[in-house]
Amino acid sequence: MTDLQDLYQELILDHGRRPRNFGRLEDANKTAEGYNPLCGDKIRVYVKVAGDVVEDIKFEGAGCAISTASASIMTDALKGKSRAESEQLFKAFHDLVTGQPPRPDTPDLGKLEVFSGVSEFPTRVKCATLSWHTLRSALSGEGEAVSTE
Ligand code: ZN
Repeated sequence: MTDLQDLYQELILDHGRRPRNFGRLEDANKTAEGYNPLCGDKIRVYVKVAGDVVEDIKFEGAGCAISTASASIMTDALKGKSRAESEQLFKAFHDLVTGQPPRPDTPDLGKLEVFSGVSEFPTRVKCATLSWHTLRSALSGEGEAVSTE
């Protein structure tokens, strides 16, 4: 178990230091901003939606390693997914970081599993879910600033 936790921690640190899909997405047609006042994490998510599919997704912002790594891995996980699949992943990820047992229809979380340890640190849950809440707001088209408070 310790080895697995080490591996998870390493992946989070790696994505926190060198986030993937970082920067502005010029041809985005959906965007939203998120803020986690508890930790000071700020993020803007850019999404290019074509039909029902998340064709491309990027983010920019500044935050702790967990919020940055979460956004980085989220953007990797959601590229090419439909809205419904994105929503399912959101729910599964939320269950994971809040320590809920997986539902029977839970999709494979893949790399997102690295955040399973976050459930032991309730104040970090908001760091891990900030990018997801922001993405949801972007997809819903409201585009308003999201705060985790
Ligand atoms: Zn944070």
